[in-house]
Amino acid sequence: MSRPASQRTSTRQLASTLVHWFSQNARPLPWRQSRDAYRIWLSEVMLQQTTVTAVIPYYEKFLARFPTLGDLARAELADVLEMWAGLGYYSRARALHKSAQALHTRGGFPRTATELEELPGFGPYTSRAVSSLAFGENVGVVDGNVIRVLSRLHALDLEWWTPKARREYQSLADELAQSADPYQVNQALMELGATICTPKSPTCLICPWQSACAARAHSARQATKSVTDFPRPRPKREHEIWIWRPRIIQSGQAFALLPNTHAPFLRGQLLPPGEAKRHKAPPKDFAFRGQITHHKIFVIPTRERWPKRLRQLEGQPLTWVTRDELRRQIPSSLARRALESAQ
Ligand code: SF4
Repeated sequence: MSRPASQRTSTRQLASTLVHWFSQNARPLPWRQSRDAYRIWLSEVMLQQTTVTAVIPYYEKFLARFPTLGDLARAELADVLEMWAGLGYYSRARALHKSAQALHTRGGFPRTATELEELPGFGPYTSRAVSSLAFGENVGVVDGNVIRVLSRLHALDLEWWTPKARREYQSLADELAQSADPYQVNQALMELGATICTPKSPTCLICPWQSACAARAHSARQATKSVTDFPRPRPKREHEIWIWRPRIIQSGQAFALLPNTHAPFLRGQLLPPGEAKRHKAPPKDFAFRGQITHHKIFVIPTRERWPKRLRQLEGQPLTWVTRDELRRQIPSSLARRALESAQ
């Protein structure tokens, strides 16, 4: 590990420069208007999957429907999924709902990351984000932006996706958070990564850390090395080809659905029964295709008509969902398209 330039600047100085920069440059984002733990938590969960610009309308719509932790805890899961539709990663919406119920039952949010991590759906990042941003706990947060900025600041060439490297980043982020107001430091670090120290074209000339940045010093010394060589690229996960054969079972205007246990994508969601098999090559004939994470899915639906008195299939209770309710009950556009394609 090489930290030539940043070693000459103390952590306290780094934190102070960063916080000063943030005070002048922070974007007025809706979740920065409040230190309410519920609002901070919601924004952090949403921001894990998409950009700030994309999240804002979802965040505002979600809060208008579920303004407090209690409102979310008491809501029907289908209503929560409906408000989440379009954001993707529905397992996060389910975990959010479950955690809201657990938090509401215990009377609210605990104030430390250690306690928060014991709750369902709270990983190391979310726990630290909530405890530092809502309650001022002296802990750093480590997300993709922070990893990128710290890798460049210290010219760290680590396998950042491994637990060992994560611990290293966590300790660097903690040191910074302990050197000034943790709310300001953590927000500023994420802001720097989102607006200045961006993945492909960092604007080092206006960066508050430009004189301390080891990657910048490296790239000035070796013309072959660029700041964008940090962090090291993560080896890509290979795409998998899947053929999905959903059985579209219809009775009048209603479709029969089961919790998905047959496909590795859309786990736990209500889907038509069926089978999914991994293949080496794409099929020649299919109705349509889609992609969910690293799964390339070729869909071949079949259609069946059954009376609605059919209550069980494959040993599991069926849920009949009417056409009007599809959007509310089935957040995945791929699954809805499968249902609608067989009409
Ligand atoms: S100087 Fe450039 S590479 Fe270094 S932290 Fe700032 S924006 Fe990132």
